[in-house]
Amino acid sequence: MHHAIRIHQTGTADALKFEAVDVGDPKADEVRVRHTAIGVNFIDIYFRNGLYPTPLPSGLGMEGAGVVEAVGSNVTDFKVGDRVAYCNGALGAYSEERLIPAEFLVHVPEGVDDESAAAALLKGLTVQYLFRQTYRLVAGEMFLFHAAAGGVGLIACQWAKALGAVMIGTVGSDEKAELALAHGCAHVINYRKENFVERVRDLTNGKGVKVVYDSVGRDTFPMSLDCLSPHGLWVSFGNASGAVPPFEIGILSQKGSLFMTRPTLFSYAATRDALQEMSKELFGLLSSGQIRATPRHRFALRDAPEAHRLLESRKTSGATVLIP
Ligand code: NDP
Repeated sequence: MHHAIRIHQTGTADALKFEAVDVGDPKADEVRVRHTAIGVNFIDIYFRNGLYPTPLPSGLGMEGAGVVEAVGSNVTDFKVGDRVAYCNGALGAYSEERLIPAEFLVHVPEGVDDESAAAALLKGLTVQYLFRQTYRLVAGEMFLFHAAAGGVGLIACQWAKALGAVMIGTVGSDEKAELALAHGCAHVINYRKENFVERVRDLTNGKGVKVVYDSVGRDTFPMSLDCLSPHGLWVSFGNASGAVPPFEIGILSQKGSLFMTRPTLFSYAATRDALQEMSKELFGLLSSGQIRATPRHRFALRDAPEAHRLLESRKTSGATVLIP
């Protein structure tokens, strides 16, 4: 018998229940993974509180790293004992062991430890598509990224530096400002104290930036649009403060023929080829040390409620992992 965190109804962190579960044997295309570290992501909170609906009861969690314990009869790319990680598939990473289709797994290279893999795969592939696909950042280019000291944020700081791009990051405290700077963010704005639109205008000599990456959602709308230069791109990729409210499309014309996109990792990494290409780039940066992804917060699996409380109250920085 193994244990997992499950939800029977949506709600606060108290909805997370640590329960005994029967994992079973893998079907033909599946693998059984024993987790050594599990990534905590803000999306887990959206599923837990019902912002993103899911049939109940349900497991939780999208991201894990660990060791292959058993493989189904059709699986050829993975064998018992392989070190693997994933960030896609059915909810259920908050568990000691689980079954998962092999198509979602990637091998974790030597030189990347399990905790870093669990901390970085989902968040790092997100930065990969944001910076390299949604809008290709180039060296010297200034751009705005909200929540720069968060899990995705600290990887973004380091990736921007590796590209030579000039990141303006918003953060919710002075400690987070220090942290973002130390990870390669060029300019920080404490948006609890400062008007970030004015600061971005100052930093860009009134021109604005060509791209804003916004995962805060409700609280930074529509101000993020005012940071853009004409024809700029608003990338709305999350809702940490709540969902962006419905708006008139005319706002995009009034603010300078703007573009907007609402992307998800799961459409960018939808094919096995895309997942492998994107992971290769991320693991390259992790292996070379250009990105360090050691988690800043660790909890035992059964203490997942405490991890959620900390994350949703803006008290974490960088990534959080659960250890089974
Ligand atoms: P973070 O570690 O970044 O935590 C969220 C951060 O958002 C907080 O630390 C806080 O930073 C900031 N924030 C601002 N306002 C609020 C608020 N009212 N309540 C809570 N937090 C707030 O989380 P993750 O790294 O897991 O994810 C970052 C964002 O990226 C999330 O919105 C997530 O949904 C999104 N995401 C989207 C993906 C996609 O493909 N679309 C994939 C992965 C993540 P501060 O105190 O500095 O303001």
